[in-house]
Amino acid sequence: MKYDVIVVGSGLGGLECASILSRSGLSVLVLEKGAQAGGCMQSYCRRGMWYDTGFHYVGGLGEGQSLYAPFRYLGLLDLPWKRLDFCFDRISVGGRNFVFAEGFDEFARMLAEDFPAERSALCEYASLLRRAGEERFLSPGMSAGEADLLSPMSGVGAYSYLSEKFRNPLLVDVLSGASLKMELRKESLPLFTFVHGNSSFIESSWRLKGDSSLIVRSLADTIRSYGGEIICRSEVVELVEKGGKLVQAVCSDGRVYEGNVFVSDVHPAITCGWVKRSERIKKVFRSRIGRLENTFGMCTVSLCIKPHALRYFNWNHYVYSRPGVWTFYQEAEVVGGVLVSCRVPEDGSGYARQVDLLTPMNWGQCERWTDTVVGHRGEEYLRLKERMADECIALADEVIPGLRDMVEGCYVSTPLTYRDYTSVPEGSAYGVRKDFNAPLMTMLSPRTPVPNLLLTGQNLMLHGLHGVTMTALLTCAEIIGREELRKLVFKS
Ligand SMILES: Cc1cc2nc3c(=O)[nH]c(=O)nc-3n(C[C@H](O)[C@H](O)[C@H](O)COP(=O)(O)OP(=O)(O)OC[C@H]3O[C@@H](n4cnc5c(N)ncnc54)[C@H](O)[C@@H]3O)c2cc1C
Repeated sequence: MKYDVIVVGSGLGGLECASILSRSGLSVLVLEKGAQAGGCMQSYCRRGMWYDTGFHYVGGLGEGQSLYAPFRYLGLLDLPWKRLDFCFDRISVGGRNFVFAEGFDEFARMLAEDFPAERSALCEYASLLRRAGEERFLSPGMSAGEADLLSPMSGVGAYSYLSEKFRNPLLVDVLSGASLKMELRKESLPLFTFVHGNSSFIESSWRLKGDSSLIVRSLADTIRSYGGEIICRSEVVELVEKGGKLVQAVCSDGRVYEGNVFVSDVHPAITCGWVKRSERIKKVFRSRIGRLENTFGMCTVSLCIKPHALRYFNWNHYVYSRPGVWTFYQEAEVVGGVLVSCRVPEDGSGYARQVDLLTPMNWGQCERWTDTVVGHRGEEYLRLKERMADECIALADEVIPGLRDMVEGCYVSTPLTYRDYTSVPEGSAYGVRKDFNAPLMTMLSPRTPVPNLLLTGQNLMLHGLHGVTMTALLTCAEIIGREELRKLVFKS
């Protein structure tokens, strides 16, 4: 059988594309290397409890907000979402506490109470965030393709914007405090990434009651109900080009699948490597893609909490031991910043059974175990994980006093874990590093030099559930047409 579309990789972006395309009447096959679908959205089970790997909260699901229409179309709005409190993120810097409030005006107003001299700058910043939230990636006014990626904000550094707009460096730290969900890096982070990574959460923030496999299963069910197929344990090793177009995907076990269009949800450098002989992909393109750098990885400490020990809290804490939110992970000997996220109790008891602690982790800290695989990395690696857990818990203790004594179980994943389960180079958490100094080189379009090979996922324009969904829309627009897709997704 020859498929209309073969999607390689079943991360969120791959599944969203497969869902949209199969609903449009195309025959779709998803090939996934791993034992389960989902990529970073996979969950794992320990002692009867399910833990998430790459999902804690999402923004913009309220009616009319930025992710509402795409999630409604994808069937994801029906999942058991729980809206976070009005003060959805709480930022602690060196022992001083601040809040992020829902709604752009309230967000600015609450912070202006702590920083009255910066009120008008905060209002201007909130307007910028609001405009990003209102941006519709398929809106009729926007032209197709790379033009989307050339927002004026792509060529401006987030750090220089913030430090020029705000006089108080503590406010710059606070405004960046909820941004452990991206790579804060003064030298490269574009304002575009920063603003899009914050805006939807200020519209409204949501957790799932349950783990992220609910999202994966929902998308997979839709794909199958429209006749699509998902085959796990199928590692693509080659995409065969004939006459300037791709014709086949070849898997490591020798199976070969034919298709008309190929969508890759896998890192662009790996994808390029699969097209071994090509009339279309020139050396210069390969070397440009090969030179792309990747964002840092994350260390996730998943804690199982003793029953009735910790009241569920319906917000996130971001805790930094001292000022310097943009650099703490580059310099510190010990963990200096942590996101503390609480899982919604599923038993209705009001007590949390799971808390996740996340902190950035550079590949350099993992490099010596590059040649090892999960479960066989040796004693020293186990000690490193213990130390990371210990330091994360010590920092989180600032906002959950006595946390250490509440812990019943502790499971730690590092960038090595992500590398081994999702094949992302260097276990990068948020994909290709976007760079405001070179936006055209680092903010990739779905198109490639091979006309029937498209890219999708967090390596392109934006990461996270919000960003990957926007990217999936852009990828699908290349196949079924922008106007057609816009009508489908944004129809009232
Ligand atoms: C620790 C952590 C916490 C996060 N928390 C949040 C959060 O709270 N909110 C939020 O919005 N975002 C969060 N994110 C980001 C979010 O999870 C990602 O942006 C998103 O899931 C990435 O999806 P993707 O489609 O780009 O692909 P990926 O998830 O990278 O999936 C790629 C898939 O391709 C498969 N693959 C690789 N090679 C092959 C091959 N040769 N053949 C076949 N298949 C292959 C992989 O196995 C994988 O399944 C978090 C990420 C991390 C790491």
